[in-house]
Amino acid sequence: MLNMQSISRVFKTDTIQTHALRDFNLKVNSGEFVAVTGPSGSGKSTFLNVAGLLDAFDGGSYELDGVNVKGLKDDELSRLRNEKIGFIFQSYNLIPDFNIFDNIDMPLRYRGFSAKERKRRIESALEQVGLASRHKYLPSQLSGGQQQRIAIARALAGEPKILLADEPTGNLDSLMARQVMELLHTLNDQGSTIIMVTHDPDQARSVKRNVQVIDGQITDMSIYAPLNDVALNKAQTA
Ligand code: ADP
Ligand code: MG
Repeated sequence: MLNMQSISRVFKTDTIQTHALRDFNLKVNSGEFVAVTGPSGSGKSTFLNVAGLLDAFDGGSYELDGVNVKGLKDDELSRLRNEKIGFIFQSYNLIPDFNIFDNIDMPLRYRGFSAKERKRRIESALEQVGLASRHKYLPSQLSGGQQQRIAIARALAGEPKILLADEPTGNLDSLMARQVMELLHTLNDQGSTIIMVTHDPDQARSVKRNVQVIDGQITDMSIYAPLNDVALNKAQTA
């Protein structure tokens, strides 16, 4: 599904260069649920942005669902992103003046689906997140946990190949966080491929595969289990 080999991403300002990702390697198969942990500033969001085609990379190769991403033009990248990627952000990123239906509808309109197809997708996505009755509400009329479930519905309505979540429960209290995690697990059980950045060790433990990003490089905790202690010590002193 996702294959990154030796990816590098360097941010340059007048005075400094930050190697946000260096020699970054990750393969994720269809149907996996991967939790990404690591200290603040280690490159987790940069990785998700590159994976989600929101950001370019400077070196290495990246294949998404069989498509070699390198050299694609901006419009080709947006098309690929809209088709294959569903994003879930910490801050939901719903449009406050649009009701729930229109929030989910917007990216579908952009892709040119018929009104009938859009309605089918929106109703099915709202059903999946358990909020079918709320399509006329404004985001501000919902709790944080409900707003995040709407953001998940918006991602699902695109029928993506892969869901990318950047600290999806970071703004939620523990009860709502648990509901959102349960939803992500259900979606994974139903076949969704998910990559989730999290700070929460319990959440990471609840997921089959854990990888850790430290200084822009990845350690696969499931494959290199003996390195766990070393990686954790590094994380604590970073
Ligand atoms: P994390 O999500 O793990 O906290 P990030 O991926 O956001 O880390 O950042 C990794 C490193 O890259 C940090 O040192 C950060 O300051 C730097 N960085 C991220 N985005 C930019 C940017 N747009 N411009 C310059 N530096 C950036
Ligand atoms: Mg981040």
